Amino acid sequence: MSKPVVVVHGGAGRIPEHRWDGAMRGVETAAISGWDVINAGGRAVDAVTAAVRSMELDPQFNAGLGGVLNVSGEIRLDAAIQCGRRLEMGAVADLPAMRHPSALVRRMLDEDCSSFLVGAGALRQAEEWGFEAVGTEALVTETRLAQWRAAKHEGVDEQRPVFGDEGDTVGAVALDANGDLAAMTSTGGIVYKAIGRVGDSPVVGSGLVADNELGAASSTGKGEDLLKAVVCQVALDRLHRGDMCLTAARYALERMQRRTMSLGGMILINPYGEVGIHHTSDHMSWAQMDDSLTKPLSGYQFS
Ligand code: ASP
Repeated sequence: MSKPVVVVHGGAGRIPEHRWDGAMRGVETAAISGWDVINAGGRAVDAVTAAVRSMELDPQFNAGLGGVLNVSGEIRLDAAIQCGRRLEMGAVADLPAMRHPSALVRRMLDEDCSSFLVGAGALRQAEEWGFEAVGTEALVTETRLAQWRAAKHEGVDEQRPVFGDEGDTVGAVALDANGDLAAMTSTGGIVYKAIGRVGDSPVVGSGLVADNELGAASSTGKGEDLLKAVVCQVALDRLHRGDMCLTAARYALERMQRRTMSLGGMILINPYGEVGIHHTSDHMSWAQMDDSLTKPLSGYQFS
């Protein structure tokens, strides 16, 4: 018997203390948005879309409004969704500033057309469907400008981006009453990233994965290393070998740390609705909603 569930994260890293409350409120609101969909009999793909949309609207997260700036001071977004029923997906990378990349990748999944579009091609398809590029000015925040100025001042090498304190990429996984799994991730990437740089977030197997036979995951951390370690697929392989979700998530992240020295976080669920939430970074904000809870279970660090 599968037990419907929604789990979201608001990014791994070192979340500064002044953001702890805000991050908790943001992920809890997102988990409720996703759970409302499942509770009303909706689909897992709709639940993850609603959850991620809520965090794209929240300027404290690095997705949609509040996305980080690349080396030339522009917001470029990456996002993806996968449905576990037939592995349908939609993904965009290096997308010019848009409020809801989640809506665009969701439309790609529904249309069952090209599954991965980048840059000008992604923008062209978005505009054809009526999604508007609003420009960096519409989405940039004071915090992001300050981060960008600091990176410029420090002379950060854009080809060697540093993953440090951001901790605010967003992701969601869900299981619905039909037994369908879904996963979604949305991000601006890493502060002062190189032009054309794409991390793990839009890449199935690294940034997210959903497969009804195994599970659904969304990861966060330094994209360069999450890509190398194919962390989400590694976690699913562990589920296939019989691991519980927490053990599988921990294995995938510890393997990445061992092989690449990189820290990160992951939310993982299996087809029965068991949950694994783990991070090797100092923090990762997360929230979970299911039938047994009257309000979201949430956290940002292990005690
Ligand atoms: N994984 C994202 C990237 O590298 C960043 C993050 O998770 O915060 O683009």
